[in-house]
Amino acid sequence: MNSIQEFLFLLGSVGFILGLKYMGKPDSARKGNLIAAAGMAFAVIGILFFDNKEEGIVVANNIGLILGAIAIGTIIGWLMAKKVKMTSMPEMVSLFNGMGGLCAALISIIEWRSHEGTMEMGHYLPIVAGLIIGTVSFTGSMIAWGKLSGKIGDYRFPGQQFINLFLLVAVLGAAWMNFSAANSGEDSMMWFYAIIGLAIIYGLLFVFPIGGADMPVVISLLNSFTGVAAACGGFLYDNKVMLMGGILVGSAGTILTVVMCKAMNRSLTNVLIGAVGGNNSVASTGGKPGGTVREVQATDVAIMMKYASKVIVVPGYGLAVAQAQHVVHELENMLEEEGVEVKYAIHPVAGRMPGHMNVLLAESNVSYDKLVEMEHINPEFATTDVVLVVGANDVVNPAAKTDPSSPIYGMPILDVENSKQIIVLKRSMKSGYAGIDNDLFYNPKCGMLFGDAKDSLQKLVNELKVV
Ligand code: NDP
Repeated sequence: MNSIQEFLFLLGSVGFILGLKYMGKPDSARKGNLIAAAGMAFAVIGILFFDNKEEGIVVANNIGLILGAIAIGTIIGWLMAKKVKMTSMPEMVSLFNGMGGLCAALISIIEWRSHEGTMEMGHYLPIVAGLIIGTVSFTGSMIAWGKLSGKIGDYRFPGQQFINLFLLVAVLGAAWMNFSAANSGEDSMMWFYAIIGLAIIYGLLFVFPIGGADMPVVISLLNSFTGVAAACGGFLYDNKVMLMGGILVGSAGTILTVVMCKAMNRSLTNVLIGAVGGNNSVASTGGKPGGTVREVQATDVAIMMKYASKVIVVPGYGLAVAQAQHVVHELENMLEEEGVEVKYAIHPVAGRMPGHMNVLLAESNVSYDKLVEMEHINPEFATTDVVLVVGANDVVNPAAKTDPSSPIYGMPILDVENSKQIIVLKRSMKSGYAGIDNDLFYNPKCGMLFGDAKDSLQKLVNELKVV
């Protein structure tokens, strides 16, 4: 490694760390993304143009092919990122993550083939770990992508967990046999193929039974796997920036997985083998015993909000589906012109990804200081005149606090029922992700404004102009 390369790698590592730090807050996330991308550019330039090791010569001889591949990848990635809908982001993350896993596995395959024959354990371990983890991450991510895009269903069969455990032991056994055979001069190729085959099957069976709606947690977990696989590549090539990037992705993915599980009050084991969710069609058509549903009209809601002092908007998955972020911002501006204080209550798992609502509302230039996190906004509901729940359901379901038999019992929720009036914008009485009824809709303080979230908000904007 020469000093220019070392310096570029240092810049790359600093870029990754700073980028990650800035991504932790909505107002600096965009900047964080750019800084991390710049860090990656420094690392790539360092490896392509300033490497004087054996690999550097290989790179120099193939520079045209490499730059061509980078150009094709950049164009495809750019177009996909531009075209993707906000509600399809988990699918795209999964697809891209799978590609990262595949790259890590391919690096291991190339490295193993170039060292065929005897090998030290210290060198073999990162190769085989990168191969197994990268392959599992690739196949698992592809299944996750298929499930999220509705192409693949949930497949469960008896004894699946035991088969998975068996496969895990088998793949480790094949890895050991491969090492032993290579070092005793025997044909080790068969064992090498066995590792790849078993890891592919394990990746498929690991993700197949998991409920489609739990996929964001699984994607985050697979993301951390890819990070670990990339870190193995960093070990192999003694490439510090790759090692650092891999470790950061691995640890950030693990932390995100834990945060998501905590915010849903579920253990990772429960997500991986449980079957909560996936039933989005449970319908209750009003008139629950002991309660009735009160339907309201846009005119009444507009008047109610116009004369309020404080309105809190609770955005949920339905707001993202309806792409209602711009019109909700328009409504916010109109209310503020009337002297009403408006804030947004952001639940950590509102939508289908952590940070989903922040990104969506940022798209329509909602000021970041209006986005208030759950623990800070909850005490404010008691002094709020109107809460406008837009396409949210589970994150405002009081059963999480009151019904120990509920699948979401224990999940922290937004205490919207403490406010003076609650207005819920959704299309029907259908349940949300957890597939359960919501007592909030039968609360005497709650009015239901049925319809697509974007249409209903547009009606409110129109009404506010005339009331
Ligand atoms: P929910 O899925 O609970 O509810 C969304 C509601 O939006 C539905 O009841 C639906 O009712 C309504 N809706 C859908 N489309 C529209 C539309 N076009 N216009 C108006 N309303 C619409 O969403 P929440 O955000 O409240 O909760 C998120 C759930 O996702 C939580 O249970 C969370 O645990 C889970 N989850 C979150 C993850 C994360 O990391 N963020 C990860 C995995 C799961 P209707 O059909 O009647 O319109």
